[in-house]
Amino acid sequence: MSTIFDKILDGSIPCHRVYEDSSVLAFLDISPLSPGHTLVIPKRAAAHLHQLPDEDAAALGRALPRIARAILAVTGATDYNVLQNNGAAAHQAVMHVHFHIIPRLGDAGLGIRWSPGSLPDGTTLAASIRAALEA
Ligand code: AMP
Repeated sequence: MSTIFDKILDGSIPCHRVYEDSSVLAFLDISPLSPGHTLVIPKRAAAHLHQLPDEDAAALGRALPRIARAILAVTGATDYNVLQNNGAAAHQAVMHVHFHIIPRLGDAGLGIRWSPGSLPDGTTLAASIRAALEA
């Protein structure tokens, strides 16, 4: 499924590019939560994080801290969030993997509603996830 990020990647719509390598593009979010709010995407389309090939995941992992350092240097922010939404119910609007880097500048930045629960079945749950990872 094609998304607006494919159009940015093929140059048919513009973006404010901040970083590019053979696997990754980063550009300013068009509706920023704070100055410097940047999106970091793999060039190869995948809708969700868990669908990324290892090489694209590694390229994103290498690029993210570098881009974050530049954003902090330019904006003067010291605090920031990295947000990565997967699925419409998790607030993903564009179905092409993207990491938001969102500086916190005063009141500007990511608003978070965090409702912690308890962990009654941690041993079982962790064992199940370990088994899934090994499968
Ligand atoms: P998400 O809710 O995680 O899918 O976020 C999608 C993000 O893409 C939003 O923050 C939008 O503002 C941003 N966005 C959508 N279209 C564009 C565009 N053409 N250029 C830059 N950012 C965009």
